[in-house]
Amino acid sequence: MGNWLKKLKEKGYRTTRTRKEILRVLTFHPVPLTPRQIREEIPQRVPDLSTIYRDLTLFEELKIVESIFTPQGSFYEIKRPAHHSHLICPSCYQINCIPCPLRQEEYLKHQVIFWERCKNCKNQGREK
Ligand SMILES: [Zn+2]
Ligand SMILES: [Zn+2]
Repeated sequence: MGNWLKKLKEKGYRTTRTRKEILRVLTFHPVPLTPRQIREEIPQRVPDLSTIYRDLTLFEELKIVESIFTPQGSFYEIKRPAHHSHLICPSCYQINCIPCPLRQEEYLKHQVIFWERCKNCKNQGREK
């Protein structure tokens, strides 16, 4: 996390509490999160959603964070060095990172998202 804060400073951006908290939450959670979910993980003096969106956009520009577009809105995660895809549960919209099953030429053109019911929803017999 220190590296990203350094990167922010080098580019002339302030390392505000919200920015630190967002990075902390995203580092701590191995799955992509929505701005709302990130907000729920920030204790006390909870920042407003628009600040979180703004900071996430900045992180994305700086290539610290990557966004995943879904019909449920955007999810964010710390940018990983390796290309990968995402699997979304159509019942609860839990999202997970999976190795990309496509060839390089295919995935360069677009972001690929796969849909499959998660274990939890399968076990509970949830249909949709
Ligand atoms: Zn599910
Ligand atoms: Zn991912």
